[in-house]
Amino acid sequence: MSELLIKNGVVYDPINGVKGEKKDICIRDGKVVEEVKNPKVIDAEGMVVMPGGVDIHAHIAGGKVNAGRLFRPEDGRRGLRPRTKVCMPESGYSVPNTFATGYRYARMGYTFVMEPAMPPLAARHTHEELIDIPILDNAAIPLIDNNWMTMEYVKSGDIDLLAAYIAWMIRATKGYGVKVVNPGGTEAWAWKKNCDLNDAVPYFDVTPAEIVRALAEANERFEMPHSIHVHGNMLGHPGNYEVTLKTYDLVKGITPYRDRPVMHATHTQFFSYGGTTWRDFESKARAIADYVNANEHVSIDIGSVIIGDTTTMTADGPMEYSLHQITGRKWTNHDVELETGSGITPFLYSGKVSVHTLQWAIGLELALLTKDPWKIALTSDHPNAGPFIGYPILISMLMSKRRRDESAKEMHSVIFDRAELPSIDREYSFYEIAIITRGMTARTLGLHEHGKGHLGVGADGDVAIYDISPEERDAGKIQKAFLNAKYTIKGGEIVVKDGEVVSAPPGRTFFVTPECESGLMDEMTAKLKEMFANYYSVSLANYPVQDAYVPNPYEIRAPWRS
Ligand SMILES: [Zn+2]
Repeated sequence: MSELLIKNGVVYDPINGVKGEKKDICIRDGKVVEEVKNPKVIDAEGMVVMPGGVDIHAHIAGGKVNAGRLFRPEDGRRGLRPRTKVCMPESGYSVPNTFATGYRYARMGYTFVMEPAMPPLAARHTHEELIDIPILDNAAIPLIDNNWMTMEYVKSGDIDLLAAYIAWMIRATKGYGVKVVNPGGTEAWAWKKNCDLNDAVPYFDVTPAEIVRALAEANERFEMPHSIHVHGNMLGHPGNYEVTLKTYDLVKGITPYRDRPVMHATHTQFFSYGGTTWRDFESKARAIADYVNANEHVSIDIGSVIIGDTTTMTADGPMEYSLHQITGRKWTNHDVELETGSGITPFLYSGKVSVHTLQWAIGLELALLTKDPWKIALTSDHPNAGPFIGYPILISMLMSKRRRDESAKEMHSVIFDRAELPSIDREYSFYEIAIITRGMTARTLGLHEHGKGHLGVGADGDVAIYDISPEERDAGKIQKAFLNAKYTIKGGEIVVKDGEVVSAPPGRTFFVTPECESGLMDEMTAKLKEMFANYYSVSLANYPVQDAYVPNPYEIRAPWRS
């Protein structure tokens, strides 16, 4: 029996309504308990205590992440740390190696990360990398929106069969939910085309709007912990905010199985653009935030820009091609048979460039104009808008108007004409930071019912202790504290002390098992056999992820809703 007592800390545990109270946290055998008898004691006097961080969206594992590493040896030479008695060597900045991914998140006090774009055909690779990442619990969401069978069922209007397909895919990939990336557009890219919301996908003759609506309905056929997770159409295009709002409207009126949104719209910064070209480009964060403030069926994460160099990577193949055309930088593209695709290109966000300055402002505006922090999560769409290691910078920006003003002065003057940021006074509290990095993310993913993102009795013993006074407002000190936690505790074990990794246990993989009526499953499987025989390069029997790929499983069953 191992026991731990964290005493005297000021605790921020939003899911349990704890808003900065001096409170002891007791952990026994990896779980939070009422009391302990003979514990090891951590004195957190004068420090901030939060549940372990839960990242709702970061590209940390799988084919395109690994391709990004190969594609950018210059990035791999940054962030080097040699092997120690505890740690494997670290390398990479925007596409760190698996070890660095685990250690860096743990140093920031995070204990769970969601990989949000797993190509089903490459699910084994994704899981191989996930189990290679130390410390972090994890999950991955398979891409199910550009798949040929999805489009066939959307066209025939058979939502139950679409649900059966979703169930089969999530089970086969040991995945967590339904990911949507440029619905229809990634398939159209195989014909060198792209799709706006109401354009017909070549050959299949369905629209992205129909795909999104049908997937949301099918997802709600089950007691799924998470809503559909949506990267919509026209990412990164001037004027796209109107498409974004229309996309949100598509799922209005669908009833979720529990108290959660029907759609999680991800890296919203890239979807909040006004103007008609890059010349008259402007922020429309206000319009997006107003919509989110007024509605309950959509949650968002920020996708906030971190000024500096990074590597963009997404299943949104046509978007990466246009980025390559704009920047002239190297580019790679990949097609995943009947399912999806991807592209990669390096990118430099510069505060001297008007468009980048506005992108930077838009992310922060979304966070500051969305009134209820339970509707928005902190992300940088790692590594697309910047590497996750920049989160402490974003936290300090949200908590300090002064820091934002100082940064704005250094950036392109367009920020004073076409963005709202300089006039926003709001500053986040530590409690609100705990919501957007733990409470909201765990709840939106449904992980709060499985021990994540809170410190109530029965929760996982995942705790972050930051050496900073709850009264502190100095942005530099806030950034430093969130970059290197005083302690990170994972499952009751101290994994980080004084900002250094002292233990690196393996993480667990969370996955969902949707339960489908057998008649539906049989009908859908017959169709699937035909698709594999005719079109896939692998056979059906060789496709599903075997149990060996998930050595530390945590299964969540999602019953069929009758
Ligand atoms: Zn993403």
